[in-house]
Amino acid sequence: MRYWSYLALKLLIAAGLTYGLLAGVEFLFPDPPASRFGTQPMFLHDMRFTFAIFGVFLFGAGLLYVAIWDQRRRCRSCLRRLIMPIATGSWGNMLTSGRPRIEWICPYGHGTLRISELQITGSELPDWQPHDEDIWQELESYDHTSK
Ligand SMILES: [Zn+2]
Repeated sequence: MRYWSYLALKLLIAAGLTYGLLAGVEFLFPDPPASRFGTQPMFLHDMRFTFAIFGVFLFGAGLLYVAIWDQRRRCRSCLRRLIMPIATGSWGNMLTSGRPRIEWICPYGHGTLRISELQITGSELPDWQPHDEDIWQELESYDHTSK
């Protein structure tokens, strides 16, 4: 819930910035006086205004992309950025080593994010696997079996 609330907050901030920039562009380009044909919208009739609106669109699309890109690299529990990318698998030995992918972990051990580099059947969603609360359990069980 916290993860999606953070994404919603970032999207709201991006929408607010884009709307503010749009209001600024509309403030800088006042409506022209009415001609005998009535008032025409400035979009697609005034080149500078049209390019300014296009710039606002690109700014908004860029903010949306950055918000989603940043969200995909965050821990689902604590919202910290995932660290320590590890490349696993192999392009040359896919049958023996597995498919190539990159694994990211939370610095506090909440989970692992696996992003597949080979996406044959279209874009695949990253695989998030939460860890147990006791992160030392795996090491302790290894210690018991080695004795
Ligand atoms: Zn975490």
